[in-house]
Amino acid sequence: MSEKYEDLESRLYDKSYICPVCDKKFKNKDIKKGKTIFIEMDLGLRGKFKPIMPDYYYVVMCDGCGYASITKTFNKTTNKQIKNIKENLNPNYRPKKYKSVLDGKEAIDRYKIALYFAHIKDSQQSEKAYIAQKIAFISGDINNKNQELEFNKHAYNWYNDAYIDERLPIMGMEENQFIYNLAYLAYKTGNIDEAKKTISKIMVKQDLSATLKEKIEDFVQILKNNDK
Ligand SMILES: [Zn+2]
Repeated sequence: MSEKYEDLESRLYDKSYICPVCDKKFKNKDIKKGKTIFIEMDLGLRGKFKPIMPDYYYVVMCDGCGYASITKTFNKTTNKQIKNIKENLNPNYRPKKYKSVLDGKEAIDRYKIALYFAHIKDSQQSEKAYIAQKIAFISGDINNKNQELEFNKHAYNWYNDAYIDERLPIMGMEENQFIYNLAYLAYKTGNIDEAKKTISKIMVKQDLSATLKEKIEDFVQILKNNDK
């Protein structure tokens, strides 16, 4: 580890939440403003930061009842979902202890618990896909290739379902970005022909952002090199 643990810890603070399931007030770690440096946007449109990756902290977990969710949907639970969660909570639950600074394995562990609750809540497919893709990204960080592939496959299938059943923007993605991501996931799961077909739908569009245009160019090049 190049950065000292204490230095990384000093970039975090305790953010307060109220659990929608058990009403307990609790705190989770989040990153202080201005304490990360943006490096680049990778091929999967994931922002790379130093010395802490913000997306390791996108899961909120209640230390009272164990309910966990991605930050985007933590406070958006319906009464029906809360009822389902309560019926599925473990009465003998003991809060999991995590270090302040999360490593890849711990971050994945938290996303997997959020995915479990997304199933219990009968969440939209896009929420499950978002979580699965995060697990795939972080599995890549820690070189767990099998898990990376497994969760990219889930993300690909669930986002494809979402494209049929849900309205754009989906998980914050407008149409161009969403289709790009489908092409990226097709590529990551070995469906090269599907990736080419999908990326060709947006390649010539006029309303692409500068960043997306650049990423499409890089991606098309990678797909071409794949043929050699
Ligand atoms: Zn709770």
